[in-house]
Amino acid sequence: MLSVFDIFKIGIGPSSSHTVGPMRIAKRALIDAHHAGALNRAVRVKVELQGSLALTGIGHGSDKAAILGLLGAEPDTIDPDEAQALYARYKNGGEMRLFGGPTVDFDYRRDVDFRGDILPDIHPNGMTVSLYNKADAEVFATTFYSVGGGFIASAEQLSRPPDNDLIGLAANGPLPFASAAELLVQCARHACNIYDVVLANEDAKRPRAETDAGLLRVWQAMSGAIDRGLRSEGVLPGGLSVQRRARRLFEALTHEQHNQESERLFDWLNVFAMAVNEENAVGGRVVTAPTNGAAGVIPALIRYYCAFDGWNEGDTRADGKIGRFLLTAAGIGMIYKQRASLSGAEMGCQGEVGVACSMGAAGLAAVWGGNAAQIEHAAEIGMEHNLGLTCDPVGGLVQIPCIERNAIGAVKAANAARLAIRDTGEHRVTLDQVIETMRQTGIDMSSKYKETSQGGLAVNVIEC
Ligand code: SF4
Repeated sequence: MLSVFDIFKIGIGPSSSHTVGPMRIAKRALIDAHHAGALNRAVRVKVELQGSLALTGIGHGSDKAAILGLLGAEPDTIDPDEAQALYARYKNGGEMRLFGGPTVDFDYRRDVDFRGDILPDIHPNGMTVSLYNKADAEVFATTFYSVGGGFIASAEQLSRPPDNDLIGLAANGPLPFASAAELLVQCARHACNIYDVVLANEDAKRPRAETDAGLLRVWQAMSGAIDRGLRSEGVLPGGLSVQRRARRLFEALTHEQHNQESERLFDWLNVFAMAVNEENAVGGRVVTAPTNGAAGVIPALIRYYCAFDGWNEGDTRADGKIGRFLLTAAGIGMIYKQRASLSGAEMGCQGEVGVACSMGAAGLAAVWGGNAAQIEHAAEIGMEHNLGLTCDPVGGLVQIPCIERNAIGAVKAANAARLAIRDTGEHRVTLDQVIETMRQTGIDMSSKYKETSQGGLAVNVIEC
């Protein structure tokens, strides 16, 4: 199902595909083992991280996520500090009570296997969880793929052609759409805007009050990440010696009175986006938007208008400005998810920060009063100028270039929305065309530039 709450998922950093996804896979594997009658026979568990999950797994916290998942943790409820403490404890090995099952003898070096040499054909983020009995014979094994934005899928799900290509939730909703073009048709047919179409489909799924409450939770989690990022200082973990900058910049901006409107926009978008992504880098609580690596763009845009346009938590209702922003952005994100991918390991960073920029531009155009065509145009511009953006995180950490890239993405989104809102909505390149171009570019992109840290900045910036 694709709902606004699938696109915006509360979790912990630093990566939705490499942290949130593996945590969900580990827990899901144990649930499947329980249903298969194998869990209680286990005396040992082994996690094999494959492809990109292995190559950037340490920096992206995939091993930590797998351990947390084996313990039954959920990304949206685990306390980030508790998560770190559990990781530190189990890295030294010892008895581990598997979720819903027996206590096993866990040895990190033996039981977490980084197999960067295995590059699964079906998706670069493979993860196999195996269970062994007293005779050290395998009694259960399952493989899932972390397909971006915290979504997971089995090989069967990935290889099965969809019955139709309608967008997830919309397929069961009153206003189905399978592309941006069909979304615009629904808007024209019902004389409404993109957020109305998305909301009509959400309303078919749950009472409006639950959607309102969920939107409030999402915004509170986004805003909380900004607040923690603005309060915190020090060096980010992982060995790159990257200093947190958001707090210092925030303090400087707070005391500046005379900067121009345009400078103010740039400065504050930068500081809010970096605050979120510095929180993400330390494994803090963030929201996929649509991924953790790209978690700063949309919160920065919304927070800027909270700070300078008086938006507040009351605006998170589905018919409020923040609610409409999130619904519009989610609607655009659903199209990317369904027609291409949100995975840096498949698409490079165009599929993460590029998509966030496109979603953010659409959300901003919506709350600036743009019609459906202008919003679609904003989303198109937001991606058009991110096409080809590679993923080359230095040291496998979600720090360089990721933190600054979110700041740049937020500024670019605001500009894309300005361009679109000043236009009539008529344009040569459609959102569907640019999404397909992103997909083809992602397929053609060398794996060196798709979350493997084997090319680009990752090999030209010396780690020390
Ligand atoms: S470069 Fe982009 S896609 Fe790659 S880890 Fe950083 S934010 Fe994610």
